[in-house]
Amino acid sequence: MFVKKIGIDLGTANILVFIPQKGVVVNEPSVVAVSLDDNKILAVGNEAKEMLGKTPENISASRPVKDGVIADYKITEAMIRYFINKVSGKVRFFKPEVIVSVPAGITSTERRAVIDATLQAGAKAAYVVKEPILAAIGAGIPINTPFGNMIVDIGGGTSEVAIISLGGIVSFSSVRVGGDKLDQAISDYIRKTYGVAIGSRNAEEIKIKIGGATIVENNKSLEVRGRDLISGLPKTVKINSNEIVEAMQDELQEIIKGVKDVLRETPPELSSDVIDRGMVLSGGGALLRNLDKLISQSTGVPCYVADNPLLCVAKGTGMVLDNLDLYRRSVISRK
Ligand code: ADP
Ligand code: MG
Repeated sequence: MFVKKIGIDLGTANILVFIPQKGVVVNEPSVVAVSLDDNKILAVGNEAKEMLGKTPENISASRPVKDGVIADYKITEAMIRYFINKVSGKVRFFKPEVIVSVPAGITSTERRAVIDATLQAGAKAAYVVKEPILAAIGAGIPINTPFGNMIVDIGGGTSEVAIISLGGIVSFSSVRVGGDKLDQAISDYIRKTYGVAIGSRNAEEIKIKIGGATIVENNKSLEVRGRDLISGLPKTVKINSNEIVEAMQDELQEIIKGVKDVLRETPPELSSDVIDRGMVLSGGGALLRNLDKLISQSTGVPCYVADNPLLCVAKGTGMVLDNLDLYRRSVISRK
């Protein structure tokens, strides 16, 4: 297989690899399992996620991208190498050009480290682009126009809010609240209210099946199995949508605060564009029912969910790879 161009969405929850003309070819959790004895990578992606929370003492399964920063460059490099090899095979006639999305808040030193890691991992040329820019491009927003374009990308670990004009970020905020904190709020609620402990995957399932951002009339319910905190035995409780909506409100309000902070910091000409055009939601968190409604009610700005929000950043990498000249203002590169 001759793969000349590869886009990598280095998310806090999921890593996606995009190849132009092919689309998303890898979609795996961003988890790496490392042996603590010799610091060797044991597993990446799906296989490593299976190990989370179940690892023996000398193995640590961790997420390389945390809280909007890259927590460990060595591991990030190994992970980028793993995915490049996975899609282009070990025997390569061409070294590929690679784009990697980076959190918008990282420093220029950190950015260079990602570029070096990508080159080390076998790229001919490495480009990094800030994640909200890729999300906006993938969502179909015309980021090179001289207007204020607003994107809210809600991932697993962070929510990044940005206003983009002429290919660059004008104002920006990163909130350390995303899908993971919503899951945590659900398990905390169930523990406090019913005295039952549930795991994080179970909490995520509840959020996706019956959760939402605003109170609904069609209040669905779900039987949830966990462990009774007093007897220690398995126990089933019945939970409904509106309880979950309530349980997540504090975290949702933190995301909304990030959105409001960015609106307040934006020059008036650009914010009037945003009021006209609205903001676009991307990332997996955008799929939470009625989140668009809650955000637009709270801010007075119309809010739209992108098509396939989980894929926006990956699609954005593909569009930039195919049009490097058009997006040159948004790309930081090295060969
Ligand atoms: P990241 O870019 O940080 O890797 P993603 O954009 O891949 O994150 O989004 C992952 C988050 O989206 C997870 O917290 C997941 O629970 C959440 N998510 C996925 N699908 C849904 C859904 N249908 N409703 C609510 N949240 C969802
Ligand atoms: Mg993301």
